[in-house]
Amino acid sequence: MTRTDTDLVIAGGGLAGATLALALAKVVPSLRVTVVEAFPLSPDALPESYQPSYDARSTALAWGSRLIFEQLGLWSRLSAHATPIEHIHVSDRGRFGATRLHAAEHGQAALGYVADNRWMGLCLMRELLDTGVQWEAPAEVVDMTPLAEGVRVSVRSGEATRELTAQCLVVADGGRSGLRDTLGFQTRTHDYGQHALIANVSTADSHRFHAFERFTDAGPMALLPHGSASRPGHQSALVWTLTNEVLDELLALPDDDKCRRLQERFGWRLGRFTRIGACNHYPLKLTTVDEPVRTGVALVGNAAHALHPVAGQGFNLALRGLMTLVEQFRLAVAQGASIGDLAVLRRYQTLHQQDWQQTVQFSDSLIRIFGQSLPPLALARDAGLVGLDLVPGAKRWFARKAMGIGGRRAMIDHPSATHREPTNHD
Ligand SMILES: Cc1cc2nc3c(=O)[nH]c(=O)nc-3n(C[C@H](O)[C@H](O)[C@H](O)COP(=O)(O)OP(=O)(O)OC[C@H]3O[C@@H](n4cnc5c(N)ncnc54)[C@H](O)[C@@H]3O)c2cc1C
Repeated sequence: MTRTDTDLVIAGGGLAGATLALALAKVVPSLRVTVVEAFPLSPDALPESYQPSYDARSTALAWGSRLIFEQLGLWSRLSAHATPIEHIHVSDRGRFGATRLHAAEHGQAALGYVADNRWMGLCLMRELLDTGVQWEAPAEVVDMTPLAEGVRVSVRSGEATRELTAQCLVVADGGRSGLRDTLGFQTRTHDYGQHALIANVSTADSHRFHAFERFTDAGPMALLPHGSASRPGHQSALVWTLTNEVLDELLALPDDDKCRRLQERFGWRLGRFTRIGACNHYPLKLTTVDEPVRTGVALVGNAAHALHPVAGQGFNLALRGLMTLVEQFRLAVAQGASIGDLAVLRRYQTLHQQDWQQTVQFSDSLIRIFGQSLPPLALARDAGLVGLDLVPGAKRWFARKAMGIGGRRAMIDHPSATHREPTNHD
């Protein structure tokens, strides 16, 4: 094999790219990994301390994701700003169907967790500091050329562009991946014609570690338990699906009126909504790539599949895919093969395919079935929710999907993997 500048270039050091770099440093330490990240933050120049803000953006981590972070030796650090979800309550506004999932019924401390995004990023970067991973920031991967053996990656930093040779390029530059388009990967996009409004809210009653998925005639909404140092238990992260017109109208309202509208939609299960923080909004689209690999290139994370956020599956799915890719890279290195070989990358694609197809279908069906107000569909979904409660197999299936343990789990083997039994709230 020709000697390259590095073995792997990861374009994008967001949650997916940084996790991949860390997992490779732990599982295949002989692999030389270079992360190129556009944002000007590096593992060797991190803020001293972390102050969570009221408006901190968060991600619902499934139980299966906790297990992966435990294997990476990251969970003990990460759990400091992760709120457990012990119960999930799924209901339909103004109708009789409802189902409840309880972690205890599944013999677990939690069904999942809500973790601050910025905190997750900092934990990943702190851990990367003790590895051999090269981190280049701010810099951007702007192009890639296939070579007889490996790839040539063009990296722009300020005015200068330089070339790096590698066995493989992993594209982890997010949902609006410019690189995916530059390299000519075909995407399929379904526009739901709606937006997700994201905000943190305060409630008079404690969430008592409940997550709520509520289906309304205007679309689904989720309230997830979220940490707050000043009033623990009284803050939740809101994901609210709205049509474009309603969104504009809502954003123009003062905060008290926003809380009132939310109250009408969600009801009183958490008491009165007393505060709503900064409102961010995102157009709801499902974007997938049928062929996420080519010789020398693989797409991961949101660059490969960007899902509707209401089911909270996007990063969890990405994480399972990353572990599958790590497993294939480890096998390739052990066998003396190039990590950019099409056979290696195809195997990753094949192993991850069933999981991503099922997860995409699960997220999509939540919107298509539960986001409809047409009477037959509304009745069908009520029957579905009641059915979930009555048919143990159906509820178990739903719970496994929500916990992110329905798909194939790639096991990784390295010295810092931990296998302790969890305790409540740890
Ligand atoms: C509103 C919302 C709520 C969500 N909630 C959940 C949830 O509850 N649970 C869940 O599992 N998932 C959730 N997701 C999905 C989750 O946020 C993503 O799956 C996750 O952030 C993975 O991101 P990524 O690393 O692929 O991309 P990003 O986080 O977008 O990172 C991409 C990185 O690439 C860098 N970059 C861009 N271009 C280049 C380039 N050319 N060269 C180098 N670097 C580049 C960017 O600076 C960025 O740091 C949600 C998504 C949204 C939009």
